Amino acid sequence: RRALGSLGKSRAKFISAEEKTGVTFDDFAGQEYIKGELQEIVRILKNEEEFQNKGIYCPKGVLLHGPPGTGKTLLAKAIAGEAGLPFFAANGTDFVEMFVGVAASRVKDLFASARSFAPSIIFIDEIDAIGSKRGGPDIGGGGAEREQGLLQILTEMDGFKVSTSQVLVIGATNRLDILDPALLRKGRFDKIIRVGLPSKDGRLAILKVHARNKFFRSEEEKEVLLQEIAELTEDFTGAELQNVLNEAGILTARKDLDYIGRDELLEALKRQKGTFETGQEDSTEVPEELKLRLAYREAAVAVLSCYFPDPHRPFTQTDINSIRSQPNMQYKEISGRVYARKSDYVNAVIRACAPRVVEEEMFGIDNLCWISAKATLEASRLAEFLILQTGMTAFGKAYYRDHSDLVPNLAVKLEALRDEYMRFAVEKCASVLREYQSAVETITDILLEKGGIDAEEIWDAYNSAPRVPQPPVTPIDEYGALICAGRWGIHGVTLPG
Ligand code: ADP
Repeated sequence: RRALGSLGKSRAKFISAEEKTGVTFDDFAGQEYIKGELQEIVRILKNEEEFQNKGIYCPKGVLLHGPPGTGKTLLAKAIAGEAGLPFFAANGTDFVEMFVGVAASRVKDLFASARSFAPSIIFIDEIDAIGSKRGGPDIGGGGAEREQGLLQILTEMDGFKVSTSQVLVIGATNRLDILDPALLRKGRFDKIIRVGLPSKDGRLAILKVHARNKFFRSEEEKEVLLQEIAELTEDFTGAELQNVLNEAGILTARKDLDYIGRDELLEALKRQKGTFETGQEDSTEVPEELKLRLAYREAAVAVLSCYFPDPHRPFTQTDINSIRSQPNMQYKEISGRVYARKSDYVNAVIRACAPRVVEEEMFGIDNLCWISAKATLEASRLAEFLILQTGMTAFGKAYYRDHSDLVPNLAVKLEALRDEYMRFAVEKCASVLREYQSAVETITDILLEKGGIDAEEIWDAYNSAPRVPQPPVTPIDEYGALICAGRWGIHGVTLPG
């Protein structure tokens, strides 16, 4: 595909200081402390000599990590824009080639160009593509090649002299967990910044940034509308918030209106939520069967949330208007000081099982569908977190980043203990749902009829429902599970009734 002559040339995109990235810190909203940290770095970059006299050096590398769409690229461009420095943008996947020696020489070229323009900035997006742990499983092939590239990055970063004008390397990833630890060592990416999902205030600030070039009836109305959208968009990234406003703009134009109104914003929001998983932008018509499944799922989650209320995040409402693989239940912002007890974690695992368990109760094991598939993942993930990272279980008091941290014999123990937690969670969840089947039916009916239900109606249904007493569930046997791996085998569990 590519001519041989260009082998080894880095494919990085170059933006000179004069061209400017056009992005400033004003374009990034929310998470103000991140800007503070980065502004500090820009200050040092711009006034190297002055700071060096005081013995302060700029970090060599800054690693931004967090979910996609949270503004990591935006921040890197803002750093370049604010510092007025040449900017070299590359992607980790650019370096991954099957030809021997290409990755390393691409890295070398990139750093050589950046150095000749120093002080300058290199941005490597998706750095995990080249910087994943060495010696791990070789997904997608090209492992040895990638290792060469990674080694070259390490060499280049070690090679900078701190005493001369330098090159700042900014890396971005949403997989911090798979990065090779050598990259994170002192003198390489020594500043690690998490870019997370925005809080409610953050979401409002982001919406305001992207509403700058949009028309509203008045400043007051804009404020009120954006407030409302910020309330309704928990778990949204900056990119998704931007999409909502853009989509609302498009709808406004399509209807030939002069100003974005509440209807357009809510419609845009609905579309954004609906396209999370399905990608079917225009299918507003939901098939009856899917509606029924969604309603049962939300009702089950609601009942479990009443039975095991999350002390830190009271629920507010749910609906069956968006088709996502995760429950639509919405929660208040976390308030006050959070101290989760072991029982809170276990309850969270049980709650997370609800979509899967109710589907199985209603439709049978052969008739499950994808809207409950994520529940299994979520519940296992929570159980694993409790076992590996809290030191609260029989697994021991050590901290493990994830299961890849475990030696084989511990991995077997993890599996057994997780199975035992999951066995208990599934059984307890099923038991609660059977006890409160009548509340589940009531909430389902309301959802099918009105499309949505709020916390008050949920609690009413829950408190007034006749209950069917259930036999006790066998408690978690932590030690039994540790000694006897796989005894429980919950995978084959069938729910009676
Ligand atoms: P990432 O690199 O983390 O995947 P991007 O920087 O590519 O995310 O984000 C995509 C777009 O989403 C940005 O160009 C910007 O328009 C918008 N965006 C994301 N986060 C924010 C934020 N915190 N403030 C303002 N806009 C944001």
